[in-house]
Amino acid sequence: MTKEYVRELYQTPLLKLIAQASRVHEANHNYDDVQRCTLLSVKTGGCPEDCAYCPQAARYHTDIEVQRLMKADEVLQAARNAKANGATRFCMGAAWREVRDNSDFEEVLRMVKGVTDMGMEACATLGMLTESQAKRLKEAGLHSYNHNIDTSREFYSEIIHTRDFDDRLNTIGNVRKAGINVCCGGIVGMGETDEDRINFLYTLASLDPQPESVPINALVAVPGTPLEDQESIDPLVFVRTIACARILMPLSRVRLSAGRLSLTDEAQTLAFLAGANSIFLGDKLLTTPNPEPDSDYRLFQKLGLNVPARTETAGA
Ligand code: SF4
Repeated sequence: MTKEYVRELYQTPLLKLIAQASRVHEANHNYDDVQRCTLLSVKTGGCPEDCAYCPQAARYHTDIEVQRLMKADEVLQAARNAKANGATRFCMGAAWREVRDNSDFEEVLRMVKGVTDMGMEACATLGMLTESQAKRLKEAGLHSYNHNIDTSREFYSEIIHTRDFDDRLNTIGNVRKAGINVCCGGIVGMGETDEDRINFLYTLASLDPQPESVPINALVAVPGTPLEDQESIDPLVFVRTIACARILMPLSRVRLSAGRLSLTDEAQTLAFLAGANSIFLGDKLLTTPNPEPDSDYRLFQKLGLNVPARTETAGA
């Protein structure tokens, strides 16, 4: 794959692009198979990093209430509830720059083990990881690790100054070496250009092996962050990005992530048609709002998707 190929793909007329993505999707997946993940912030706010989109950065004045690391027992209760709501994967996010080898990490390992023992896929996003930390997470049963490249290498330094693009790739490499699945995507609508989105998609698709999950977020412009006044992305540009991700990474789960509340049912439908096959389920995504599970299941029903509804009771 060359960057030129990705550029040509990105510039394909939208209806043709969606049709092509849909063919790739049908050849590799089943439309009924929409993965449902629940994401919980297990340690909120107070982060020393300066990601311009993030309300959890300590240096911005947002409404976030800083919260210390939760106890494993509380997290496991939330995981049971998520399972009862139909989630098959439980993701735990901590607002850390990097993992430290201390008692907090031991607590996270207990969370990972508990979620895995519950029969769910455990996923974590904890910041930068060393090779040995990745190995310990793998031993605890971690299924996937999320570490986004966020945007293009060229635009990265406009958004984050406290680390660089290669730091991200390095952690992704450590996760891979430990045999953990990679969940890696980014955010669109931060003021990047089409060329940035092309470069972003090119980097993702060039990871070898390609990430098993690719979350595509639409920026949620949170008051108090440097991007608070950023205009929302055109939903059709969002759909175009999803379609390209599907074609370039035919086997990956392409996940509609943050920003789904600002998409109409029609825009989400186009995104599913273009190959999105995973969503976050639950009314909150770390700290930003997300649709209620009921409205997601209503949409699946309207689309005629046979996504199993919730059958278990909380605590099961
Ligand atoms: S995105 Fe993550 S690393 Fe960046 S400020 Fe937010 S919590 Fe910290």
